[in-house]
Amino acid sequence: MTESDRWRVKPHTKIDLAGIATDTTEGAPGGKDETKEATTVLLERLAGLQARLWAEHRRSLLVVLQAMDAAGKDGTVKHVFTGVNPMGVRAVAFKAPSQADLDHDFLWRIQRELPERGDIGIFNRSHYEDVLIVRVEELVPESVWRPRYATIRAFEDHLTEEGTTIVKLFLHISKEEQAERFKARLKDPTKNWKFSVADVDVRKRWDDYQIAYAEAIHRTSTEGAPWYVIPADRKWYRDFAVATILVETLERMDPQFPEAAPGLDHIKIV
Ligand code: ATP
Ligand code: MG
Repeated sequence: MTESDRWRVKPHTKIDLAGIATDTTEGAPGGKDETKEATTVLLERLAGLQARLWAEHRRSLLVVLQAMDAAGKDGTVKHVFTGVNPMGVRAVAFKAPSQADLDHDFLWRIQRELPERGDIGIFNRSHYEDVLIVRVEELVPESVWRPRYATIRAFEDHLTEEGTTIVKLFLHISKEEQAERFKARLKDPTKNWKFSVADVDVRKRWDDYQIAYAEAIHRTSTEGAPWYVIPADRKWYRDFAVATILVETLERMDPQFPEAAPGLDHIKIV
């Protein structure tokens, strides 16, 4: 049992997102200030682990972030990855597919952005959009999107076998919290740019999205590539949870600095 098991969805487990609190602080070491301090300590450990992953240069970590609008995908990336060496981290945002993307299978654009050995790759949205928005907006028929759960499981199994550890994070906010954040985006000139008119249409289909998320998570949470549902109404709790999960995942991977080249101890620098 690890701390992050609290948020992990066990394989083959059906979930009811409405029954999972978005505003809990369960498992936090204290209130806001204490938790933020604990997160700072975790982020220092994360930086050390990433340095080892990068030096080892054999395996990679892929962090998939999925959420409703304004749930804090960007904020999570910003807060959790400050302090890691930017050389070894790459964040990619997957927007609506281009014509070239649509001319290929749905994993084509994903494959091209996968992290290299030694890297941490962050996906802000991902191949999961192809069973989420694509399902809700009926962009393709069910006979096309439904087999994708199995395709995704096989794809992620393959990546795992090849040395990529995959962690999938669903930032879970309430509909009320989204309304608050949208209002703030509309009111604050420094946040206006974050709002798009399309967000309102997506919000109208909130329940459909929750169903699509629940099924995607249920069908694709595996031992090797688990989903975590993160209560995300409170940003400080969200950051603590994500930092905990990433530190525990990297500790399990236990990357090692490479052995010194033979004869290094005989070299004299004059
Ligand atoms: P932001 O926080 O900046 O709003 P965002 O990820 O919402 O970030 P947008 O440019 O607002 O970025 O929206 C991207 C849109 O592209 C989302 O509505 C998303 O669902 C959609 N999208 C992503 N992948 C696909 C896909 N494969 N098919 C159809 N739509 C997709
Ligand atoms: Mg958006």
